[in-house]
Amino acid sequence: MIFRTLVTVGLLALTGCSPLQDNVSRISTKSFGSLTDGRDVTQYTLRNEAGSSVGIIDLGGIIVSLNIPDKQGQLADIVLGLDSPQQYLTESPYLGAIVGRYANRIKEGKFSLGEQDYSLAINNGANALHGGLVGFDKKMWHVVPHEGSDYAELKLSMVSEDGEEGYPGTLAVQVTYRFDDQNNLSVNYHATTDKQTVINLSQHSYFNLEGHASGSILDHHLTLEAGHYTPVDDSLIPTGEIAAVNNTPMDFRISKTIGRDIVVDHPQLIYGGGFDHNWVLDRHTEHGYELAATVFAPKSGRQMEVWTDQPGIQFYSGNFLDGSIVGKGGNVIGHRSGFCLETQHFPDSPNQPNFPSTLLNPGDVYDKTTIFKFSTH
Ligand code: BGC
Repeated sequence: MIFRTLVTVGLLALTGCSPLQDNVSRISTKSFGSLTDGRDVTQYTLRNEAGSSVGIIDLGGIIVSLNIPDKQGQLADIVLGLDSPQQYLTESPYLGAIVGRYANRIKEGKFSLGEQDYSLAINNGANALHGGLVGFDKKMWHVVPHEGSDYAELKLSMVSEDGEEGYPGTLAVQVTYRFDDQNNLSVNYHATTDKQTVINLSQHSYFNLEGHASGSILDHHLTLEAGHYTPVDDSLIPTGEIAAVNNTPMDFRISKTIGRDIVVDHPQLIYGGGFDHNWVLDRHTEHGYELAATVFAPKSGRQMEVWTDQPGIQFYSGNFLDGSIVGKGGNVIGHRSGFCLETQHFPDSPNQPNFPSTLLNPGDVYDKTTIFKFSTH
């Protein structure tokens, strides 16, 4: 243990970063620039004893940077992102953002609760995606920082008005990011409503564990703790079936590279242009956090585990990234240069009676947590 600490401190000295001193704050703030309408955007940077840091802005609760050491102790920023806040509003495919009220798709933006029919903003072909035209990714959040003895935390809150983007109920939402000294980044989602509604919140970071400007993610190794997935139609809406992964390219129960089966001639891969599906997690407890996914990047030795209490995970292999967006530091965001692992309830659940319910009633508390754990080997 002492040896490991000495090695870590030595490596940090070599790479120019130092573990936190007692009198150094774990959280700092700086301007992230302004939107064209004049609103200022603030970046909060959370640092830990391992020399790692995560940058989060009040616009969309977006994770704009995540610096994690590789097996040599060398830091790299492992999330895709943009340099200007306005770009996040106008040209971002939800890079790093909190997505809601309903992460993922709702068929034709329609659902009913009791006798009442609801129509949402349509923003993805014929369907509603990730909360609509101005989803939670484009809202300004109120941020309260807090430091514990071995972690830094940001509590982001926001009220979504009754009827916003077509959703019923005034929704009071709180998202808590916590970054600790063991390189665990946890995201807790908490919400209440004054009217029956549906809810599905997620985090939409695009990871490239080799570094955000390292090109394709196809050689990352992925394991998904899922024996089933929800097949989709050609507009990526689930058919309602819960299908077994065995003997399909969707089988990630044993680690394989993302690229290995992505070119297999399979209708699901044609619909998604690659992987863009919800996996049904093999849960062993009703509410506990369980391992959902493990990703390993062979060059850097970085590993990420995703733990969650959610029933599903969308694995998206960045198929719609086409080189048209200029990302951080002027780096073009290329095809499949980042992947998302969005823990969630299943897509289109409000219209799928056999999927776990996404209803939220007045008096109930929506409370979900996902933890991204970083290590090297
Ligand atoms: C969806 C993709 C979509 C991406 C960006 C993902 O969650 O599954 O189909 O292109 O978000 O909008």
